[in-house]
Amino acid sequence: MEDCLFCKIADGRIPGKIVYQDDDVVAFADINPVAAHHILFIPRRHIASMADLTEEDSGMLGKLFARAAQVARELGLSEPDRGYRFVTNVGPQAGQSVQHLHFHLLGGRGFSWPPG
Ligand code: 5GP
Ligand code: ZN
Repeated sequence: MEDCLFCKIADGRIPGKIVYQDDDVVAFADINPVAAHHILFIPRRHIASMADLTEEDSGMLGKLFARAAQVARELGLSEPDRGYRFVTNVGPQAGQSVQHLHFHLLGGRGFSWPPG
């Protein structure tokens, strides 16, 4: 999409600290990390939010989740005494600020429940 921040990062028009990329999925460091590890996982194709997903996206989502689990393992976050959050915000009440589907991989500290 022409004017979308995360489309621009995905296709290199705006620089990002890319952690992983393939034909369907891109992962990059969040510019304003809220944990020691804060990586965003996005589909390369523009999808505004989880609210717009369909079953046709299942292959891409499977890859995205599996890759996020792999990155978490590589960061040591899957060790028995550690852990991480993998979350997506949908719409204004959840605090979505960029209208391109993204999942936050958050790790390196404790997280409370329920979330704020
Ligand atoms: P949301 O609030 O929509 O769930 O998450 C958007 C995330 O995108 C925020 O954590 C914010 O820090 C991150 N972000 C916003 N602009 C940029 C940018 O230009 N580059 C990167 N890497 N992350 C960004
Ligand atoms: Zn986009």
